[in-house]
Parts: sequence; C-alpha cells; structure tokens
Amino acid sequence: MEHQKGMPIYLFIAITIILFAVPGFVSAQLDLRWGIHDMNRPKPAVVDPGTASTQELPGQPPSDAIVLFNGTDLSQWCTITGDKPEWKIIGNVLQTVAGKGPIRTWQAFGDCQLHVEWATPNPPHGTGQGRGNSGVFLMGRYEVQVLDSYKNDTYADGQASAVYGEYPPLVNACRAPGQWQTYDIIFHRPHFSEDGKLTRPARITVLQNGVLTQDNVEILGPTNWQNREPYEKHPDKLFLALQDHHNPIRYRNIWVRELPERGVFAASRKQIAIPDTLLDRYVGTYGSNGKPQFYVSKEFGQLYFVPNFATAFPLNAESLTRFFTSKLAADIVFDFDKNGNVTGLTEYMGGGKKVTKKMN
Ligand code: MG
Repeated sequence: MEHQKGMPIYLFIAITIILFAVPGFVSAQLDLRWGIHDMNRPKPAVVDPGTASTQELPGQPPSDAIVLFNGTDLSQWCTITGDKPEWKIIGNVLQTVAGKGPIRTWQAFGDCQLHVEWATPNPPHGTGQGRGNSGVFLMGRYEVQVLDSYKNDTYADGQASAVYGEYPPLVNACRAPGQWQTYDIIFHRPHFSEDGKLTRPARITVLQNGVLTQDNVEILGPTNWQNREPYEKHPDKLFLALQDHHNPIRYRNIWVRELPERGVFAASRKQIAIPDTLLDRYVGTYGSNGKPQFYVSKEFGQLYFVPNFATAFPLNAESLTRFFTSKLAADIVFDFDKNGNVTGLTEYMGGGKKVTKKMN
C-alpha cells in the first residue's frame, strides 16, 4: 500500500479507526458509495441565490429560504407566551418597542443558516451595553449580540457579533450607527442523550457584513449576563428570538434555511415551537370506555406520545392541535373545549384512527 510509506502501521490503523469511529472527524460530504467524478452521484438541488442588500433596499432571499420578515407582516412571530407581538412595522422595517419584550418565531428550527439585517439608532444614544442593544437568540437560548459597537467601548464578550458572555468576535466589523448591517449565521444545535446529558455542544459561525466574526465556535451553554449556565436538555427544534433591550433597533430581511443534520435530511414537515406555558395541557392519560390507551408525557420541555405504555415517541407540533412523530408514522390530533382545555386525542395510524378521551 503505497500511501503507508513513511507511516508506521500502528499509526495508520489508529488514524483509520479514529476516522471511522468518530463521526465528528469525518466531513459530512464524505460518501463512500460514489467514486470520484461519478456522473451517477445525485446532483445538489438548484437554488436561486437571490440578491444582496444595499443600504437603500433589502435583497432577495435564496429561493429555498423560509422568509421570517420581508417588511409586510409579523405573522411568523409571537411573544414568548404565544401572544401577538407589539413591535412596530414602520415603512417596511421592523422596530423593537421598549418594554414589549422579545419576539420569537412560531416555527421551530434546529440546524440552520440564518440571515438578519439590523440597524442601531443614529444619532446614537447611551454608552456601553446601553447603546443599540438587542440580540439574535438561536433556539431561544444562545445569543449573538446586537449592539452599536462603532466607537463604543464595552466588554469584548458583549460587543456586536459576540456569543454573549462567551466569545468576543474575531474582529469589530461594525458599520456606523444608522447603517444597515448583516448577520449570516450558521448554527448547529446541541445534542443530548435521553437522560439529559450533553453529547455534542452547539456550534456557531457568524459573518457580520460579510466579515467572519465567529469561526465555528463551540457554544458553552445558554448565554446570560454575568452567568455561564450549563446546558440543559431541550427539544431538537426550538424558536428563534429577537431581544428587546429597551433600545430602538430596526430589523429587516430576516430569513432562514433549515440545514440537514449530518447527511440526514430534516423532516420536510414544518414544525412549530409551542410556548412552554401551553405544553402541560396536553399531558395526561387518554382512553376510551374508561380504559387507558395512550399516555402523553413531558420531559425536558419535549412532549412524548406513549402508545403502548412502553415506547415513548417525541411529538412534533405542526400546529397547536396536530402533532406528528419522527419515528412512528402517526399523527395525533388533540381536541379542545372552548376554554382551551384538552379533552381528548385521535391517533391516525396505518390508515385507521383511534378516538380517545382525556382521563386526567
Ligand atoms: Mg443583547
């Protein structure tokens, strides 16, 4: 074997074992089913890349992007508790409203490419962290700081493009106050074992105004002021949020692309993130004629469908009433009374349906 020349056999074996045993070492593109230059290898999907923004006009998102804000409405957004957001749209631009709290997407995302454009006030007001502060929260927990960091001194791990409290940006690529700035973020969610242990931390890459500011860094845990908290297990997909830090920040042209996870393509069904305050109402035992048949449980903020009191299938919400599972080809539709209490569920599986009532 020519390529082993100069390399001791034990080293070659060790490297081979590492490459194949540790998926993190192997590029996601490496696919041994295809020879080099094989014309039969499936071609990537064709995407119209859209156009870049100018200071005057927002660009066009790529054709496969999910548009979260294009200047017209906030239908993709709600408050943390699921209410109508009270941020303002002024001249096709979204503006934070002090005291109205953060806004978050209805749709849930895991690994993603996120594009956000923002502008801080001109003339600037305040100093340090009080000048043009907002933030982009991945999965509602991991903040890429938004701040007017143009000739504005503050701590390095809190300036624009910082993973807040964890990583300063590689450079300060801020434009002057009032100018539109872009974030292009590539995010890979954290992974957890069933019992809640972290098995793979989240990773993030950020480009601000086209300049690399975070280079695939490993997020240490949820980001906070004065506090580094450990990871806590959460669902595989969660909402994106924008922060209200009581400074008037403008946003425009927000879009996201879901990314496949390690060659496994994301489920094509859209998934929403139900506010935590609403999750408990689904939990309980469901049955018919007084006999329990299904159980719905909640663990680490995730609902599970337990059809046979043995196997628990994570439930993904398509809406507030219809859920699907990632492993079992079943849809679960919940019934509500007029007060918003869950009264029963119907399981649709294998062409049949099973209607049950909530027993507790
Ligand atoms: Mg912030």
